[in-house]
Amino acid sequence: MTDNRSSTLDANDPLAGYRDRFFRADDVRAYLDGNSLGRPTKASAERLSSFVTEEWGTQLIRGWDDGWYELPLTVGDEIGAVTLGAASGQVFIGDSTTVILYKLIRAAIDARPDRNDIIVDTDNFPTDRFILQGIAAECGKTLRWVTPDPDAGVTPEQVAEVLGPDTALVVLSHVAYRSGYLADAQAITALAHEAGALVLWDLCHSVGSVPVQLDAWGVDLAAGCTYKYLNGGPGSPAFGYVRTEHQEAFRQPIQGWMGTSEPFTMGPEYEPHHGIRRFLSGTPSVIGMLAIQDMLAIVAEAGMDAIRAKSERLTAFAIDLVDDLLIPRGVALSSPRDPSRRGSHVTVDHESFAEVNARLWAKGIIPDFRRPHGLRLGLSPLTTSFEELEIGVEAIAAELP
Ligand SMILES: *Cc1c(COP(=O)(O)O)cnc(C)c1O
Repeated sequence: MTDNRSSTLDANDPLAGYRDRFFRADDVRAYLDGNSLGRPTKASAERLSSFVTEEWGTQLIRGWDDGWYELPLTVGDEIGAVTLGAASGQVFIGDSTTVILYKLIRAAIDARPDRNDIIVDTDNFPTDRFILQGIAAECGKTLRWVTPDPDAGVTPEQVAEVLGPDTALVVLSHVAYRSGYLADAQAITALAHEAGALVLWDLCHSVGSVPVQLDAWGVDLAAGCTYKYLNGGPGSPAFGYVRTEHQEAFRQPIQGWMGTSEPFTMGPEYEPHHGIRRFLSGTPSVIGMLAIQDMLAIVAEAGMDAIRAKSERLTAFAIDLVDDLLIPRGVALSSPRDPSRRGSHVTVDHESFAEVNARLWAKGIIPDFRRPHGLRLGLSPLTTSFEELEIGVEAIAAELP
């Protein structure tokens, strides 16, 4: 221990008690990757096992009439209310983020057939860029690339430069997956609307860590993961948001029976259900939606504002530790220093980090390696302690010459 700053910060942390609600493994000394896969809640350990014997095993097929069928919309509403600032009837769960991005982007550009351009940034997550490249080829659209500062992210000024009368859609991440830059979603949405374009926000790295106000910001579409800060478990299904005013006009391309107006009549033609249900495709993963519900209950109890406040304190402490222990050893900080422009992870770069990361994982210190030589320190406000963070950064420093 270099000092006892972390113990003072933990002692003064109003959310410290929530750490007991999560399962932890004894051999993990510092888990700094909750931004890739959140820890399980203890309630989920219980819920997942009792689901087999007390719901699936006893209800059998009757479970679909007893709540499972509605789950993609009821859990969607809960995510909307607790984390997204979204009134009910606008959020659904289903598929992966990748597939939901495809469905929503296609629905949006089909709703703006006279416009040819889609704006995206070169530092967006690969799946977002790849899905857009595929859609551009499939539908004959043009991608207009914004190139952000790699240690920061996309600014309203950069978007304004490429926006025009031919822009159909803007697709950006609210929190950049590498740098952690928090985009000004409200300002960028307003700019896009002035140009007559639609906006889709990828919320994978903000949902559950940064307060979001989709309704108030006027956002058209959004999508995001539930296995990062919503602790839904590996492969838990993603969510999509479609603003009420667009729902009747938008058609999504994966026309499955679960999104039809009367799935059980097994009719000859696809007829989309009214409202948000039309964005569903096939049978939803009921098991995949169990753990999300436990985490949402905890997030609702703690409150998004308190979660954001702790996240800012954690990332500020991370940057203090980086300044003290890593910068003198040749490490570069690759995240914004301004807390209001930062999500809940901090990225540092050093040419040795690929090897350092492998050595750290073997010792139960778990940051996240990003090529070519970045380490992300993912700080999950309800589960990461200041001590854990200090142990992690000290361990990184100890691996460096
Ligand atoms: C994690 C992440 C994804 C993941 O997509 P999956 O379909 O769940 O694999 C997509 N976009 C962003 C920005 C992410 O951070």
